[in-house]
Amino acid sequence: MIADSHFHTSFSSDSETDPRRQIERGIALGMKQMTVTDHHDPDFPPGEFDFLLDMDAYMSGMGALREEYQDRMDLGIGLELGLQPHLGTLPGELVDSYPFDFVIGSTHVTRHIDPWEREKLIEGITEEEAYRIYFEEELTNLAQFDCYDVAGHLDYVVRYGPNRNRFYTWERYGDILDEILKTVIHKGKGIEYNTAGFRAGLGWGHPMPEVWKRYRELGGEIVTIGSDAHEPEDLGACFKEAGEFLRSVGFRHYAVYRHRSPVFYPL
Ligand SMILES: [Zn+2]
Ligand SMILES: [Zn+2]
Repeated sequence: MIADSHFHTSFSSDSETDPRRQIERGIALGMKQMTVTDHHDPDFPPGEFDFLLDMDAYMSGMGALREEYQDRMDLGIGLELGLQPHLGTLPGELVDSYPFDFVIGSTHVTRHIDPWEREKLIEGITEEEAYRIYFEEELTNLAQFDCYDVAGHLDYVVRYGPNRNRFYTWERYGDILDEILKTVIHKGKGIEYNTAGFRAGLGWGHPMPEVWKRYRELGGEIVTIGSDAHEPEDLGACFKEAGEFLRSVGFRHYAVYRHRSPVFYPL
């Protein structure tokens, strides 16, 4: 079973799942490795959740679980770090302060708007403009920050427009997506295959298939696979589809990060 490199627990403000339940689920599915990546999203717009981790409690809590389960599960301790262009040196300093195995750099918020609030996403602009602004801010994030290992769910925003991914095509957005991929590759970073796209009804895991084909064409090698599960039922979801798809576009390995370095396993 492919290792899950993106899931959440009750340390994230938007999950109520005891971390043990995620680990037990991983063991039941036959995973040998998994990497927890709870949310830390500095300066998230005020709302239901603050998406801030109590970092000391997280590191010590997960450290204890890693030890407790060491005979049955190789548990990596990672982070899903929310990036925004104005955060400056903060994300880098945070990542340098703790011994993470893995850091996913995710763009959730753009223009100080949480796309989850769908009506705000397109207030005064078109869906296409909102998507484009998202990709431009994401490019800025991925170019200016170095404190991440892979870019999380590259086209996350298309879950939230009124037409979702209906008009989201390579023809329309390929120019900016191309720049994102080149930036990631140039920096020696990777991208993740995020199967939450299936659960969101997009018909694929993020990012869309054309992005993977282009990533491969450009020489992209580093791929992590994550379910983005906030509940045990979603852990490892659609990993068979993920593996088959990635193989179909030419990938033969996926990566699991330990001590911030990728270790490759056959798909
Ligand atoms: Zn995310
Ligand atoms: Zn996530």
